[in-house]
Amino acid sequence: MLSDTIAAISTAVGEGGIAVIRVSGPDAIPEVAGLLRSRVKLTEAETHTVHYGFIIDPQTGEKTEEVLVTVMRAPRSFTMEDVVEISTHGGVISVKRVMDLLLQQPGIRLAEPGEFTKRAFLNGRIDLSQAEAVIDLIRSKSDRAFSMALKQVEGHLSREIKDMRYTLVETLAHIEVNIDYPEHDVESMTSEFIKERCNKVIAQIDRLLKTANEGKILREGITTAIVGRPNVGKSSLMNALTRENKAIVTDIPGTTRDVIEEFVTINNIPLKLLDTAGIRETLDVVEKIGVERSKAAVEEADLILLVLNGAEPLHEDELALIEGIRQRQVLVLINKTDLPQQLDRSKLREFFEEGQIVELSVKTRDGLERLEDAISELFFGGKLESGDLTYVSNVRHIALLKKAKQSLRDAYEASDSGIPIDIMQIDVRLAWEQLGEVIGDSAPDALLDQIFSQFCLGK
Ligand code: GDP
Ligand code: ZN
Repeated sequence: MLSDTIAAISTAVGEGGIAVIRVSGPDAIPEVAGLLRSRVKLTEAETHTVHYGFIIDPQTGEKTEEVLVTVMRAPRSFTMEDVVEISTHGGVISVKRVMDLLLQQPGIRLAEPGEFTKRAFLNGRIDLSQAEAVIDLIRSKSDRAFSMALKQVEGHLSREIKDMRYTLVETLAHIEVNIDYPEHDVESMTSEFIKERCNKVIAQIDRLLKTANEGKILREGITTAIVGRPNVGKSSLMNALTRENKAIVTDIPGTTRDVIEEFVTINNIPLKLLDTAGIRETLDVVEKIGVERSKAAVEEADLILLVLNGAEPLHEDELALIEGIRQRQVLVLINKTDLPQQLDRSKLREFFEEGQIVELSVKTRDGLERLEDAISELFFGGKLESGDLTYVSNVRHIALLKKAKQSLRDAYEASDSGIPIDIMQIDVRLAWEQLGEVIGDSAPDALLDQIFSQFCLGK
């Protein structure tokens, strides 16, 4: 399967002046050499050298594109195979021309999405969590999400998982000894030892899972519900935010247009706003789907923006709403400050802290910046800033960590209820396997295919 040679354009098409084609496999160097006119023959080139030259059309013998060609010989390449990277500096057309010539070579075929990374994984260059981080890297929507993905590539999560598995292997070895020499009468000691070890790993998993929610927020955007009574200015706010902050629309094909997700980026923090039917005027959660259902929407939100009209007294519906959300992450926006004010601020301070209340006028745009700063402070002022945590941002990783935690709990409880130690061994082994799946130790083939098919072409 790995004996053939693959090629793909590995820079985003249409972006920037330089495009790179990556070729990987045993025939990469001779095949490209056959198309290249350069001073040094590519087949004789040393590893990690760059060569200037022209790609020749073998049919006509004519020079087509001016290129820089980099040779990386196995195993010192990303895939651990022979790799040739061809940089062209034309736009889309010149890359495509070189690509077409390459694919006419009998020994080269087009790479499947993610195939380079898959080879890197299969050849032992990176582990599965690192491979998945590459997917996140390709998809990350903000600088912060990007650096988070980068950390994972660098193996923070892998290291943590390996550390936990080491603890569990040690524990298993301990159990093994106990089973082999039951006459040692160390049963109760061993049981205590296992419990202590399980606890240690459970605590480690908990620490990782605690970051999982934050990781999710940063990767997919902070789910933000804009709530309030009719006419307070929710739609106006929504418009102002999307207009000023370069909304990124998700590229999910075949959207029914019932509900689309819209992303805005505020001071590098991606927010996910819900948009219904593409008509801004129907977005008002409270007025359109009723108080009960709006509560459900609010339940899911990471952040709630409660909009109030400063020019009117507080309404009893609003007091009810406040009661329902005051324990959550809330920013209270007192809108319409350009009008004579009637809202009793002191009443609000009974429920919210000073920093949660923002005065603004969407109409005059006064205070919009304060809102943006308040959002930043909320998410980056606190614990998120202590950037040394390993973030878990991948749904599959989170599920596996939870499973492993449950297995360890089972082992722990078994020991408490006097179940024989060799039964605990089964649970500990299971936890070890589940953690292994995170980094691709013993991952089944179907899973691998699914993961790697998520890649963009050329990665
Ligand atoms: P929604 O029902 O909560 O979505 O409120 P809208 O966004 O539709 O706004 C209701 C009305 O209030 C519209 O006529 C807006 O132009 C007006 N409005 C929104 N924000 C402000 C503001 O800051 N000041 C003033 N004076 N009017 C505003
Ligand atoms: Zn509205």
